[in-house]
Amino acid sequence: MTSKPPATVLRLAVPAPLRRLFDYTAPPDIAVDRLRPGHCLRVPFGRREATAVLLELAQESELDVAQLRAASRLIDEELLIPERLLQLCRWASAYYEYPVGEVFAAALPKRLREGREPPRTAWTLSLRGRGLPEGAPRRAKSQARALSLLRERSHSNDELRDAGISSAVMRELLAKELVVRCTASPGLPASDLRESPPELAPEQREAVSAIAAGDGFRCHLLNGVTGSGKTEVYLQLIARCLEEGRQALVLVPEIGLTPQTLARFEARFACTIATLHSGLAEGARFEAWEAARNGSAGIVIGTRSAVFTPLARPGLVVVDEEHDASYKQQDGFRYSARDVAIKRAQLEQVAVVLGSATPSLESLHNVDRGRFQQHLLRSRRGGGALPRLRTIDLRGLPLEAGISAELLAAIRQTAEVDQQQVLLFLNRRGYAPTLQCHGCGWVAECDHCSARLTVHLGRDRLRCHHCGAQQRLPRHCPDCGGRHLLTRGLGTEQTEAFLRAQLSCPVLRVDSDSMRGHDAMQTLVDLGRSARTAVILGTQMLTKGHHFPGVQLVGVIDADALMFSADFRGEERMAQLITQVAGRAGRERSGAQVIVQTHHPEKALFGALASGDYAGIAAQLLAERRGAGLPPTGQLAMIRADAPEERAGEAFLDELRRALPPLPDDCRLIGPLPAALSRRAGLFRWQLWCLAASRTSLRRALDALVGDAEKKKRPRRLNWFVDVDPIDVA
Ligand code: ADP
Ligand code: ZN
Ligand code: ZN
Repeated sequence: MTSKPPATVLRLAVPAPLRRLFDYTAPPDIAVDRLRPGHCLRVPFGRREATAVLLELAQESELDVAQLRAASRLIDEELLIPERLLQLCRWASAYYEYPVGEVFAAALPKRLREGREPPRTAWTLSLRGRGLPEGAPRRAKSQARALSLLRERSHSNDELRDAGISSAVMRELLAKELVVRCTASPGLPASDLRESPPELAPEQREAVSAIAAGDGFRCHLLNGVTGSGKTEVYLQLIARCLEEGRQALVLVPEIGLTPQTLARFEARFACTIATLHSGLAEGARFEAWEAARNGSAGIVIGTRSAVFTPLARPGLVVVDEEHDASYKQQDGFRYSARDVAIKRAQLEQVAVVLGSATPSLESLHNVDRGRFQQHLLRSRRGGGALPRLRTIDLRGLPLEAGISAELLAAIRQTAEVDQQQVLLFLNRRGYAPTLQCHGCGWVAECDHCSARLTVHLGRDRLRCHHCGAQQRLPRHCPDCGGRHLLTRGLGTEQTEAFLRAQLSCPVLRVDSDSMRGHDAMQTLVDLGRSARTAVILGTQMLTKGHHFPGVQLVGVIDADALMFSADFRGEERMAQLITQVAGRAGRERSGAQVIVQTHHPEKALFGALASGDYAGIAAQLLAERRGAGLPPTGQLAMIRADAPEERAGEAFLDELRRALPPLPDDCRLIGPLPAALSRRAGLFRWQLWCLAASRTSLRRALDALVGDAEKKKRPRRLNWFVDVDPIDVA
């Protein structure tokens, strides 16, 4: 008679830049049959210790089992990573071609990554404890009583003490491995509402009932103009989710988690709301994570990485402003939180709702293909027509600080005569003032990047926006010694100074330099609400999550800068941005207007924007992408290699390309080419693009490329990475 030998090998995801699992044996004090996939362990790794996640138990290893190192200890008795999240992380690792251990590191709070135990204040039965007969152990009365209490449900330290069971008794049971620590059993989160919700408009009601009617996984696109009541639809869906005793996960863009967003959720729901964002202190972050994991939080709201939060009883996933670029992580583990959210909903078998006034072409394409169900909200709640939009043809016009006389007149009229708010929008990229010598033409460039330095008059400095290098503003030209230095191009600071000189009302500048921290954000929100007369001048920051109901004029100072960026998404971004800023203005009274300055007023895009026809623009752009085989109809990935030597990256990628086995016919490789910003922080950047008609072909090509790249001996100081579904490919 033969029986399978028991599993003794732990296959772990360890945070390391290698795309494989690592084999260990169980910690000396832990029986291997107590371990399950999803347990977190501390392991020796090289000369350090790391937190690893148990993915599989196996009978044997490719290595000699006797030689395997033992894990040092179990971090927590509970399964910190539930099974579905385990699957999600493994999927993400494969899809984004990123080492699995690093993916899990992104999913764990710092406290656990550092191996610190989570605080546990309650007890429950262990597997072994559950196996004991009622009344055991017969000779230890207090122990038996404790076990029978725990058989009913978990108990906190305090509850046990009240029942007359000492901590010594619990320690004895722990030593016998009959009990384990756990978090206080929270029970279901409250589902009652603090305020009664408004009566839904017919199109909102249709969306809510269609989405709530489904069972299991379904992907919904809630496509509704700003102010059409998308958030109200989320709130009512969440209420139903809570009634079923399940949790809702809500993702918002980086700048979208404002106090006002949170206040709206808190005003509606009585349950615990866990928030997760980058500004949180580590303790608070862990608490929120734990509340999500143990099920005491009914709602979890967070930015990008919150998509990896463990949930005890997930019931709904919401991704607000799904088109927002901040959902894509731009370094390290380059995932799209929107796409991971969709996969998560599929694994959890729950509905996912993507909401936007300007859906991404990806999502619209999925609607076309029948993958997503679309729900349209066409009208704004509480009235307020969309503002009128017109263009100013900049060709040949004299400009001061980027502003035409016509736009200045409109600003004057709105701010000084009508005493209303004005919002002026500058594109960060198009607006980098540089320094040039009038004598010899010398231009101030960064020593480490293929980029010009930006003038910051307020701080009397030159700064590189790519690597952060800075220096004092020179008084004379380093090449010819000339003293006539010109500032070329426009910055928010210059435009601000010009407007201050021209206008009698307050002028406020909002960009990442002038706005830091939550207080600054709050000031902006308050100003938006107060409707005090002011001209607000800013960058992308203005468009996200803020409502300016009192704004009567929106000016887009340079639409061309965005439209003609090196990125193939330039026009899509511009259309989204203008539609978004327009949507946030003029809610309070009619007659609001949007003025767009451009050198290309003849572009069909502007006509469509003027009639609020984002759908028409999107259809047009989608057709162009299809023609070019670009995303979302084509599948795109990029490998980039950065090195201090000028051609090292090119040579590396070129060798990869040559070593490839024959690829599927629908697969195209482009490059190696220098990145649009070809040198940054002293590193030369080369890229190899991989375009395919199908995901399967792209995966085949990528697997081959990445497999090869990993085996290859790479030049010293060369770094490479893969970006799957890259955005911002400039
Ligand atoms: P969106 O998320 O699409 O921008 P919101 O949900 O924020 O829209 O709704 C815009 C405004 O209309 C909010 O002040 C909201 O409270 C209000 N609102 C939304 N739906 C309704 C409704 N059915 N009845 C009354 N007011 C509503
Ligand atoms: Zn000079
Ligand atoms: Zn630089």
